[in-house]
Amino acid sequence: MQTAEIQRRWLDFFGQRGHTVVPSASLIADDPTVMFTIAGMVPFIPYLTGLVPAPYPRATSVQKCIRTLDIEEVGKTTRHGTFFQMNGNFSFGDYFKEQAIAYAWELLTTSERDGGLGFDEKDLWVTVYEDDDEAIDYWRRVAGLPLERIQRLGKEDNYWSTGQPGPAGPCSEIYFDRGPKYGPDGGPAVDDSRYLEIWNLVFMQYLIDDVRSKTEFRIVSELPKKNIDTGMGMERVAFLKQGVENMYEIDQVRPVLDRAAELSGRRYGADHEDDVRMRVIADHVRSSLMLMTDGVTPGNEGRGYILRRLLRRSIRAMRLLGVEEPTFAELFSASRDAMQTAYPEVAREYDRVSRLALGEEETFLRTLSSGTTILDLAVADAKQKGSSGLAGDTAFLLHDTFGFPIDLTLEMAEEAGLSVDRAAFDSLMSEQRARAKADARAKKQSLADLSVYREFRAKGETVFTGYEYLQTESSV
Ligand code: ATP
Ligand code: MG
Ligand code: MG
Ligand code: MG
Repeated sequence: MQTAEIQRRWLDFFGQRGHTVVPSASLIADDPTVMFTIAGMVPFIPYLTGLVPAPYPRATSVQKCIRTLDIEEVGKTTRHGTFFQMNGNFSFGDYFKEQAIAYAWELLTTSERDGGLGFDEKDLWVTVYEDDDEAIDYWRRVAGLPLERIQRLGKEDNYWSTGQPGPAGPCSEIYFDRGPKYGPDGGPAVDDSRYLEIWNLVFMQYLIDDVRSKTEFRIVSELPKKNIDTGMGMERVAFLKQGVENMYEIDQVRPVLDRAAELSGRRYGADHEDDVRMRVIADHVRSSLMLMTDGVTPGNEGRGYILRRLLRRSIRAMRLLGVEEPTFAELFSASRDAMQTAYPEVAREYDRVSRLALGEEETFLRTLSSGTTILDLAVADAKQKGSSGLAGDTAFLLHDTFGFPIDLTLEMAEEAGLSVDRAAFDSLMSEQRARAKADARAKKQSLADLSVYREFRAKGETVFTGYEYLQTESSV
């Protein structure tokens, strides 16, 4: 089942059950304090918190998401993308726990022929918040799930709150058992790779205050209007439905992975490290494509810096696959072809996006080729001396002279099995900042000194040419 088909079935299912179908919002969240849209519920936050009355009692969406928190997992687990799509159904004071459980179960277990996702009931497990007997009761009654496949977990795993006074409540998550080939049995509480989390149901039920942490707070009361917020990972369902091993092998991602393999002349599946690199490339290229389509441009801070990191990590992964030439033209067009049916804006924005990507690639390849030699020498030197780390001044030199951000040095050193003396690097950086400040002060002072001359001029006692001189100098 193609990803587009899963999306269609999802929206049809909830659409037919009274949910307003809401198109995906941008990856750049409306809220300036939020870097990216990290979940399907983000565009609905004002309705869920009650800040703004919801314009509909129920809604459903397939939302583009970015989670950079998961960047280190990409390619190593089967299930973490920096970009992914979260399918959600939402109730704003309308239906609650029992109905949410019933809908999820129906969509998952209805046969493919009858428009469902066709999972075998026997492969599904759920977790609930440990005190939520109500949820356990519904899973047994409504879904007919045996007690052995319902596990209780604590607040760490199965409680949702914003970390602020306001709405909060227990969660219940649905897992798919991939079988003994993928790990020990015992359910999702024991193993999260054999048991794949596919869907999180959040029951916003209480008003909380005295919030000390995500797990320490006081329940004030039941909410007068209880909400439902759910999120199903579409890539995770797609990889199960497509009979592949992980989310990087699905129809929307695999073509980029294949192109990376082709360009490097290495075969996917032949070497674990290379496979991880190909998966990282496929993921990061897609995330960058989607971010740039939504208007993010590479830069040195905030969203632009995250994008730059994704682009640079892809370039480095290609290099580790033995390719030093530019490859973005090919990789990005492969990703465009795989994503443009679901997101027509990808095709519309592509000229601009590819110019940005190619520009970034060109600059970074130059940076890399000059700095890598220095880094390689320093690595060889450290190893010869039996040291387990790179000196802070090497990291500083790379930063200062070759434009290597510290993240890059840390990552490249780690690949070589070395740490970096971060404290020494940081202190060199602050020395440099202090120097720059002192320079700026000195410059200001010398400018201030000119006031003496200005006074002379005002008195008409001398001819002052300093302004012309200074102006020519500063315009150079
Ligand atoms: P995990 O424990 O696997 O990291 P999560 O508990 O952080 O997932 P939720 O915050 O509950 O995920 O998000 C809801 C759903 O979105 C998950 O059940 C999963 O199907 C999907 N999802 C979450 N993070 C990712 C990701 N990085 N890549 C792909 N799908 C994801
Ligand atoms: Mg997670
Ligand atoms: Mg989880
Ligand atoms: Mg979860």
